[in-house]
Formats: sequence, C-alpha cells, structure tokens
Amino acid sequence: MAVDYEQRLDFDRLRGYRLSRARAALQSSECGAFLLFDFYNIRYTTQTWIGGALGDKMTRYALLTRSGGPTLWDFGSAARHYRLYSPWLDPEDCRAGMLGLRGAIAPTAGLMESAVREIKGMLHDAGVAHLPVGVDIVEPPFLFEMQRQGLHVVDAQQLMLDARQIKSSDEIMLLTQAAAMVDGVYQDIVEALKPGIRENEIVALANKRLYDMGSEQVEAINAVSGERCNPHPHNFSDRLIRPGDQAFFDIIHSYNGYRTCYYRTFSVGRATPSQRDAYVKAREWMDAAISVVKPGVGTDEVAAVWPAATDFGFENEMAAFGLQFGHGLGLGLHERPIISRLNSMREPIELQAGMVFALRPIARPATASQPQGSRRRSSSRPTARASSRCSQRRSWLSPTRTERVALSEGSRFMSETTELLTDVPTDLFVGGTWVSAASGGRFDVVDPATGTAIATVADGGVDDAIAAVDAAQAAAPGWAATPPRQRGEILRRAFDLMTDQTESLARLVSLENGKALSDARGEVAYAAEFFRWYSEEAVRAAGSVMTAPSGANRILVVHQPVGICVLVTPWNFPAAMATRKIGPALAAGCTVVLKPASDTPLTALAMARILAEAGVPPGVVNVVPSRSSGAVVSAMLHDPRVRKLSFTGSTEVGRVLLAVAADQVVNTSMELGGNAPFLVFADADLDAALEGAMVAKMRNAGEACTAANRFYVEAGVADEFGRRLAARMAALVVGPGIQDGTQVGPLINEETVSKVDGLVRAAISEGAEAVVGGRRRYGPGFYFEPTVLVNVHPAAAILRAEIFGPVAPVVTFEDEAEAIALANATEYGLVAYVYTGDLARGLRVSESLEYGMVGLNRGLVSDPAAPFGGVKQSGIGREGGHGGMLDYLESKYIAVQW
Ligand code: NAP
Repeated sequence: MAVDYEQRLDFDRLRGYRLSRARAALQSSECGAFLLFDFYNIRYTTQTWIGGALGDKMTRYALLTRSGGPTLWDFGSAARHYRLYSPWLDPEDCRAGMLGLRGAIAPTAGLMESAVREIKGMLHDAGVAHLPVGVDIVEPPFLFEMQRQGLHVVDAQQLMLDARQIKSSDEIMLLTQAAAMVDGVYQDIVEALKPGIRENEIVALANKRLYDMGSEQVEAINAVSGERCNPHPHNFSDRLIRPGDQAFFDIIHSYNGYRTCYYRTFSVGRATPSQRDAYVKAREWMDAAISVVKPGVGTDEVAAVWPAATDFGFENEMAAFGLQFGHGLGLGLHERPIISRLNSMREPIELQAGMVFALRPIARPATASQPQGSRRRSSSRPTARASSRCSQRRSWLSPTRTERVALSEGSRFMSETTELLTDVPTDLFVGGTWVSAASGGRFDVVDPATGTAIATVADGGVDDAIAAVDAAQAAAPGWAATPPRQRGEILRRAFDLMTDQTESLARLVSLENGKALSDARGEVAYAAEFFRWYSEEAVRAAGSVMTAPSGANRILVVHQPVGICVLVTPWNFPAAMATRKIGPALAAGCTVVLKPASDTPLTALAMARILAEAGVPPGVVNVVPSRSSGAVVSAMLHDPRVRKLSFTGSTEVGRVLLAVAADQVVNTSMELGGNAPFLVFADADLDAALEGAMVAKMRNAGEACTAANRFYVEAGVADEFGRRLAARMAALVVGPGIQDGTQVGPLINEETVSKVDGLVRAAISEGAEAVVGGRRRYGPGFYFEPTVLVNVHPAAAILRAEIFGPVAPVVTFEDEAEAIALANATEYGLVAYVYTGDLARGLRVSESLEYGMVGLNRGLVSDPAAPFGGVKQSGIGREGGHGGMLDYLESKYIAVQW
C-alpha cells in the first residue's frame, strides 16, 4: 500500500476527508449535532474501530456538533488507548461509556439517563440545544430517554449514507487492495478445490489466507456447492464436494475497514452445456450493466438491463432481491447506491463520480448438471447451475484530453521549481536559529495541483512552542526598547526584500497553496505592503493628554506593547495573513510566535528568513509549524507570559480559541469566516458588476474569506447577469497554479473539494441548475470546475455555508428591502458588495448592511491602509490601517498633577 518512494495511501488525508464529509452533511442539515451509534458511521467520523464481539453492542457512540467534536464514548480501556494512539482526537473527547450491552444491563440502572444528560449538556455548551439531534440507529430505550429529556430526535442515517457514498482516492485504494487480496485467495481455492474437500475446509483456508495477508475482519465466506447452489442459501456447510459439482463462493472481508463482496463460480470437473450457457448469460448481463454505468445515469437504467424476477423463476422482485443486484461498498457492506428492480425503478438515484459498487447478476438456474469427471476448472471456464459473479467497479470522471495536457505541462514547471524548494527553510525558527522539532517529527507539505508531497517540515510540539515563547520572552524587553524609528526601518527593509523576491515567493505560495501564479504575485505585493505601511506607523503610537473634567489632575495616556503575541494564520493567504499580524506587532514593539497553517508552512518560513535578513533580532519573530495545532496553541495560551492571540481562520476554530484564551484572559483579535452577499441592482453598470463579480468570486479560486458567496440580482437583470457570468466562468483556464496562463488553480485539499462538491450536489438536488461547471475533476490534484448555479432555493445550504470554492449561486430579488433582508440573513458579517448606479441608494444600502466592510461598486476591498474585519460571527477587531497597530498596544492611563 505504501513505499517511501511513491505517494499512494495517505491515512491523514483519508481521515480528514471522512470527517469533512460528515461535517458537511451536518452543516447542510437542520440538525445541531449528529449522535452516531452505527459503527461504520463512528469509524467514518472518529477514525476509530473496536474489533471482535464488542463493536456491535450499541455501547459505543459519538457526538459531532456544529462547532466541535467528534466526542467518542467507548469501553474505558479503548478510550484510553485512543488518547495514546489517535492524536487526531482531542484526548478530552475520548471518554469511557457504557449503555448496557444491548439491554443486558437494564435501562433502569440509569446508564442511559446519565448519558443523555451528559449529551444534553454538551449540546447546550455548543449552542445547539435548540436544534434537532440527528441519530443514525438507536436502541428504543435510549430513544425514549432522549425524548423524555426533551431532545428532538430526527434521522441522521440518510445524511450519513449520503456522505459516505462518494469515495476518495484513498478509500478506492483500500477497496482495491481488499479485492486484490480476494483475487489471491481465489487462486488458492482453485488449487484446493477437488472432490473430497468440504465447504468448511475452503472457508477455513480462505480465512487463514486473508488474515495472513492482513485482513482486518473476515466477515463472512459463503461456500455453496452441488445441490445446495439453488436456491442460494447465503451460508456454508460441511458438505463434501463431489466430481461434477458446481461450487461458488462469496468472500466478504475488510482491509482497514473497506469491504469486499466478491463472488466466483467454479466447476469441479467439465462444465455441462447448460452450465456454460448460464455462465455466458450472467456475464452478458454484467457486461451490459457495466456498459451503462457512468456519472449522470440513473440506477433504474442499470437495473433495467437485468431480467425481471418473473423472467427467471421468481414470483416478484421482493422474492428475487439480492440476485440481480448491485450495491455500494465502503466501510459498510451495503452502501449507496443499491441497484435492483425492487427499489431503483421506484426511486432511482443518479450515479456520481466517486461511487464504488459491486454488480452481481445471477443467471437463471440451468437444468441439473451431469457429473463429467473430476478435473478442476478455474472460473475462467463457463460454469454451472446458478452461475454468479460479482465485480467491483470504480467509476469516476475521466480527465478530458485538454486537462491531461495541462497536467503534464504542470510537471515541467514542477521541475523548474526544484531549486526553489531545496532552498526553502523547513525547520522551526526559534530564537533566531533553525532547529528540528524536539520530537524529531516532520510532516509533508502537499502540492494541491498533484496531491504529492513536495517537502517535509519540522512538526513542532508543545515543548517547541514553549521554547519559542521563552525566546520571545528573552527578546521582548530589548525589542520594546528599540527606538520606533529603528523598528520602522527594519520593517521597511523587510518590505524591500520581499518586493525583490516577489517572483520566488509567489511561486512558493502557488506551489503549496495551489493558487494561480497571478493571484500569488498579487498576494505577495499585498503582503509586503503591510511591512511598508507599519514601517510608517511604527513612529505614530501617539498617546494623549487632557485635563480631567474636575480640573483636579491631568489624564495622560501612553501606549505600550501588549507583550508576547501568538499569531495563528490560515492557508488561503499564507503570506498576507502573516504580514498583516507581524507588521503591526513588530511596529508596536511586541515579540511574536507565529503558528502557520499546516497546509502552507513554507511561505511563513521563507518570510522568517527575510525578516532575519532585514535585521529583526533573534527571538522577536519565531515560527513553529505544527500538525498538533490545538495542543500547541493551547499550551501557549495557557502560558501566563503570552498576552495576545491574533487569529485568522474559520469561525469554528475561532470559537474554540476564544474559549481557550478565556482561561488566562488573553487579549484576542479574531478574523473569521465570511458569507459575502453580492448585490446587483437593475440600475448598475452591468459590465462593471461582472468585472467586480469575477474578482470577488474567483480571486484565489474562491478560497477567500472575502469571496462573494451569494449573488443577489434584481429581477430585471438577473437572466442577463447569470448568462454573462456563466460565460465568463466557462472561459476561465483551470490548471496547476504554477503554470503561466492558469487563472484558476486547484483547491487546497481533497476535504475542501468534497465539501464544495457536497454543497453543489445538495443545491442541485433541491432544484438548482448548474449552467456551467458543477463537478469536481478527478485525476491528480484537487480541482473543482468554475460553477454558476441558478434557481437556487433561498433556503439552500450553499447560501448559508462558506463555500470556499469557485461556485457562484445566483438568486433573484424584487426590491431593495428584500435585497437587504436576504444579505443580512446570516450569522456572518465580514464583507458585502453592492453594485448600483444610484450613489444615494448605494450609501443607504451600505449603511443597512450588517457587515464590517462594504465594496460599493468595487469587487475588492482589501487595502493595508484600511481597517479590515468583520462583525457578528466574522470576528472581533480590525487589522490594517492605523487601528491595526493599536490592537498590539495597551493604553496606560497615568493620573498626574502638575
Ligand atoms: P482553520 O481551520 O480555522 O485554521 C486556521 C488556523 O488555525 C490554522 O493555522 C490551523 O492549523 C489552526 N487551527 C486549527 N484548529 C485549531 C485549534 N483547535 N487550535 C488552534 N489552532 C487551530 O481555517 P483555514 O481552513 O486554515 O482557513 C480558512 C478559514 O479562514 C475560512 O473560514 C476563512 O473565511 C477564514 N479566513 C478569514 C480571514 C479574515 O480576515 N476574516 C482571512 C483569511 C481566512 P492547521 O492548519 O494545523 O489546522
């Protein structure tokens, strides 16, 4: 599955993908939380597994809330084990739990009552107590207890199965591996199958071989021979195999959780003509079904190529269910899609890229076979009475020819950047020196254009973070005492150096973040401007003096550096989000520890080197990349020497960090998520509005907190705007960001593509139409097509969630009041855009919008000289402008008399 010289399976990526799909399902539902008992859903969400007889005892359960978790309750010793070996779970979230072992401990013992009470408290803490709780499967007494304690329970199983139906490349790799193991076992069965061996001996042999090969669980092996073949009993016995028998097997096992359902049929001896005919028929049906399978086809169209139940001897489809049959495979044996004439004709579903399923048509039983001798036949020969086969078939969108060309061009550019990558520092920057992580650990940085690792970076831990705080502490008095003019001049040199190195920095940003080189150049210029702006502001930390109203004394106010600052930044602007914090902090006289996003640590490390070159003294700026962000940041925020947290990232993580910062009452600035409305009134200059829309939507492929998330267009011009926007989006060149000419690069990772895909799929299922794009692209890299959705349902999840991808949903409005109401109907409040030809209306609407920033006839608001920030759940505080530096200063009031 893996060697050090090839990128194949990536378990971290797999875990991230699954949890993100579960989260996206939750976010797009009415639920405040999912409470999961189905052990496949628990594995999908928590990435844990308990083997043997304990897994299905309805004792393990997991809670995923909109803002936190997953929290897992399990056998106490297993929970302790997760704390040690499952670092992706917060240790606090691994809890001992016991509900009664499927009723063996009666509900009257109170275990369920206290479990529900605990869950209720957690829902309350997460602020979702008023929303329904989605439950997948549940024991009746537990359900009754939830209802007794006033929880509103709804079904989550449908949402979880929808989430699980699209497989990532890692999941497909595991399914393929599981099937390859069965291929090997079938070869052993061919060699062992002869008169005198019993069905149970074949089962024993297959079990041994599978466990030898690393199977996690051999769930079932059906071994059926001779007269036991028809009707199919779905089991095995001690029957002795005889000359001329047909024998067929179904092997169901899992490799790292991923299952097979893999049939093969053999004849023990020479096949009779009727056996041969049956085999040929089954094969034809299977091939016919495979030829129909492609994205966009309904499951009814696949089922239709198979015979009806009455055509092969069954009274109805219920009686024949399981014979002409297809089913999804994954962590569960029967996932979506389920393809049969029983259900698919009534409720077809559309096949989608990324689904994995088995097809298993079975031919009509032929007349009894005659013994023909005792030579063994492999399955390559036609065979017997109830001939059956099963195929695992992957389906995905093949890259078009053009895309293939673009991808190979990308490799050429990759080789040009080898030099750049070998030059970039990859260790921690602490106290002015480059050091390894105390643990010696490192993690991969992945190029989103190819999905392959391009560098490894030291993985800072808690000890490293505290060492960085030590260094920041040692440097603090000297830096605070450095004359402001001198601090300003160092920042100015950093601006010059960054500007000189624009091209190499832009390539680095593009390589690790994926954004188009043109966007990356724009980001580096914008990022450098924060150094220039704050080089000028460093000398303007003016205080004030006034006479107290009583006349008794003077009120003297001076500004002093707040102290050691922890800076946490996201991956979408790896350069600018760091300089927007480092610039004002250094200007104010603070020392800092920067924890960059683990997807994009290289840019931050490159900038640390620039700052050192510019003359920043050792310890003033420290950079600690880490894969254990929660633990590392929490450790620093609990160190009493740290006085400030400046965070840019998602609202979910912002909420968590506000709570952590509360423990030591640390000063916080929060730049969080957005859900920007883009309003176009009928009197707007439509050409300008389209220009603005393309910038507001497509800068960084839509991965910006300021990205236009919802387009509200006045009825009279909505059709024209939608049509022209679609034409502009369709013309965009998608490809590796590093390649010249690319306008839209890949998204940051698989998890993001899946989230965007999930939102688009959900919108389409609610009636939206993708007039352009609408699909992810399979192949190397994490791509989603530029997309315009029209007829979007006003309550669609895509209008509520931060899309963070190249998707533009368009909704029509009738008048100004409705436009304002729609725009404000969100918990976010970062930025809004308004296009109108009427200045009075523009200002009136701008004032009514509950946002920290408004682009009035502008699709871009970011400016280092302007206060950037949001209201409501988009954040606290402002960055940039003069106020940006005040965020790093404490006011000290001195009462004085003279
Ligand atoms: P994120 O998941 O919130 O991560 C942001 C940073 O926080 C990363 O460095 C991350 O480290 C770290 N982090 C994650 N979980 C943490 C925890 N429990 N404790 C401490 N640190 C933790 O956000 P993202 O996906 O990187 O960035 C996208 C989000 O940022 C979007 O919501 C976007 O709107 C927002 N954003 C806002 C602004 C603004 O100015 N308002 C600007 C840019 C982006 P890891 O990488 O190791 O997870």
